[in-house]
Amino acid sequence: MLGAIEAGGTKFVCAVSDEDLTIVEKITIPTTTPAETFAEVFKFFDRFELQGIGIGSFGPIDVNPQSKTYGYITSTPKRLWRDTDFVGAFEERYQVPVGWNTDVNAAALGEVTLGAAKDKASCVYITVGTGVGGGAVINGETLTGYGHPEMGHIHLPRHEKDTYEGFCDYHGDCLEGLAAGPAIEARYGTKAEELPADHEAWEIEAHYLAHAAMSYTMTLSPDCIIFGGGVMQQPHLIHLLREKFVEILNNYVDLPPIEEYLIATGLEDESGILGSLLLAKQALN
Ligand code: ADP
Ligand code: ZN
Repeated sequence: MLGAIEAGGTKFVCAVSDEDLTIVEKITIPTTTPAETFAEVFKFFDRFELQGIGIGSFGPIDVNPQSKTYGYITSTPKRLWRDTDFVGAFEERYQVPVGWNTDVNAAALGEVTLGAAKDKASCVYITVGTGVGGGAVINGETLTGYGHPEMGHIHLPRHEKDTYEGFCDYHGDCLEGLAAGPAIEARYGTKAEELPADHEAWEIEAHYLAHAAMSYTMTLSPDCIIFGGGVMQQPHLIHLLREKFVEILNNYVDLPPIEEYLIATGLEDESGILGSLLLAKQALN
């Protein structure tokens, strides 16, 4: 059996599957303190004979195998989770290989293996929700280096109508600070899901996401860019964003048809947990 955790800032999704990734059981646990949350995960996993575990985690996290703190959640704004030895805790308890990556790299791996990028070798996965995060699979491998990408924290040209200062604790008006759900809410005093489709908020949102997609295209040359997360549940947003993207790309490079290049998730909200099961399988092999 394979075990997987999609570790998010508000909830942990845990699943157990067979070798073919057919999920046999799945639970959701609130993210409180490491001790409390891990204890709940242990209670769930203890009932199975696990051969490998995969973890896709919120971060920043240490993914550098050369580092003394490999497997830790490091400088997260969630104070209670700072400097938490995540991988160590699960290796110690289960004595099995543990795969470890960011939640969004895991989601990209899920999408490229089983979802919207299934016939492709590369994809970028962006989630636009409480924050903005991005991960990638390039030529079949999740993208890590000394650390891991933090695609939500890039700076982009301002929309001319936008005077909001941005909410990122570290950078103010980075992509996350300007385009995550809380930024939309702060600008207009209304939750993103309650704004009408013709509200100017969506044009501003599309502007930032299109510029971000442009940067990922120019730097990574993926086969496609997949958009997930709560804010993307606005069905018109992907169309607006494609239009903007085509405009700013200005035919500079050759790309697949836009409806096949900037796309919605193929696995809905399962890309992260399926990707984490794939991390377990990779660790095992
Ligand atoms: P998280 O990022 O915590 O995993 P979500 O991806 O659901 O959670 O993102 C939550 C954010 O998405 C909130 O800021 C919320 O206002 C926004 N959101 C949720 N549903 C929608 C919707 N249908 N349309 C636009 N925004 C939404
Ligand atoms: Zn930032």
